[in-house]
Amino acid sequence: MTIRQDCLDRDLADPLGMMRSRFSLPDGVIYLDGNSLGALSVAAAEAVREAVERQWGGDLIASWNKHKWIGLPQKVGGKIASLIGADADEVVAADSVSVNLFKLAAAAASLPGGRRVVLTESSDFPTDLYILQGLAGLMPDIELRVVAPGGVEAALDDRVAVVLLSHVHYRSGAVRDMAALNPSIRAAGALSLWDLSHSAGVLDVALNRDGADLAAGCGYKYLNGGPGAPAWLFVARRHQAMLRNPLSGWMGHERPFDFADDYRPAAGVDRWLCGTPPILSLAALDAALEAFEGVDMAAVRNKAAALGDLFIERVEARCADKGLVLASPRDGSVRGGQASFRHPHGGAVMQNLIARGVTGDFRRPDLIRFGFAPLYVRYVDVWDAVEVLAGILDSESWREPQYQAAGTVT
Ligand SMILES: *Cc1c(COP(=O)(O)O)cnc(C)c1O
Repeated sequence: MTIRQDCLDRDLADPLGMMRSRFSLPDGVIYLDGNSLGALSVAAAEAVREAVERQWGGDLIASWNKHKWIGLPQKVGGKIASLIGADADEVVAADSVSVNLFKLAAAAASLPGGRRVVLTESSDFPTDLYILQGLAGLMPDIELRVVAPGGVEAALDDRVAVVLLSHVHYRSGAVRDMAALNPSIRAAGALSLWDLSHSAGVLDVALNRDGADLAAGCGYKYLNGGPGAPAWLFVARRHQAMLRNPLSGWMGHERPFDFADDYRPAAGVDRWLCGTPPILSLAALDAALEAFEGVDMAAVRNKAAALGDLFIERVEARCADKGLVLASPRDGSVRGGQASFRHPHGGAVMQNLIARGVTGDFRRPDLIRFGFAPLYVRYVDVWDAVEVLAGILDSESWREPQYQAAGTVT
C-alpha cells in the first residue's frame, strides 16, 4: 500500500528529480502528454530568443558561418545519437518522420539485388502506413506487404528489402524486442527500419548493440524540441555508402556551395539532408537536448516504468469498476513511457481531466493515454492525477455537456 507521502519521498530520493528544474512548466497543470508534445525547457526558450534576436536579427546571413547554423543538423544528430546507442556520424536531424521514412524505405527498396517488398504491420501509426502506400504508388515495382501485428517474422522471405516497425506502439506503448527481431530480419537478407518516435528520450535504445540497420524518430515528443521540431534519422555506418537518398536535394550534395549541375551524394549520413534546415526549430531542439546532459538513459527508462507501474496500480485501486480497461502491457519492462486505458466515454473523460488540470490525450475510439516523461514528471504527479481521475469517474462529471466536443487535434 502506497500513500501520497511515499510518492513525495520517492521524488526526494529520485536521481532524476533535479532535472525538472531544467523545464519551464505551467503552474496548476499535471502534464502527462510529453509523449505527444514534450515540455518547454528553459534552455530551448533561451536558445530560440537568442537565435531570433541576436543571430537572425543581428548577424543576419553571416550567422550561417558565424553561429554555425550550417552544422546544426549534424550537431543535433550527434546529441541524439548518444541517446539511442548510435555513433555521432550515423544520425542527422532532418525533415519530419514521415519524410525520413519515405527516404529510407525508398532507398532500401531500390538497392541492387531485386528485393522490392516493403514489409510492415497494420494498426501502426497512420503516417508510417500512408507513406509506404504513397511509395508503392509512385514506384510500381515496389510491393507493400502489410501483415497483422506480430506477423512480421513469418512474412520474411527473399523478396523483402526492408521491414518497418515501431519500437514502441503509439496506442498501447508496447515495446518490440529489437534485439530479437534484428537478427531475424538480417538472416532473411532484409534491412530493419525502426520508428523510434516513442522511444528516443525515454528508453535506453541501443541501435548498434542490437544490430539495427536504419531508424527514424521524432524531435517533439520525449526529446522536447517543440511543436513541429525537426525529426532525425539513423543509418548504420556499414550501409551508408550503398544507400541513396531519393530526395536528392542540395543540402545532401557532396559540395552544396559548388552549385554544380549534377548531384553527387555527400559521404556519410549528410546525404540524407534535402533542403535548407529549419534553423529556429533546430536551435530549439539543440538546446532542448541539453536537458539530457549527464543523464543515464537506463535510469530514465527505469523511472518511466516505475511511474507507469504506479499509475496503473493507483488506477486499479481507485477506479475499479468504473469502465476503465488497461490497454498497455502491465509489465513495465515491455511498456514504453505511457500507459493507456480504454473507456467507453474516453473522449469526454479526457476533456474533463484537461479542464481539471491533468493533461493527457485521447485516441479514437476509446483510448485515453497518459505519458510519463521521466525528466519532469514526479511520482506525486501520478498520485494526484489518479485522484482527479477517480473524482471524475465517481461523480460522472464527464457527462457534462462542455466535455462532449473534442478539438481538431486530440
Ligand atoms: C509521432 C509519430 C510520427 C510523427 O511523424 P511526423 O511526420 O514527424 O509528423 C511518426 N510515427 C510515429 C510512430 C509517431 O509516433
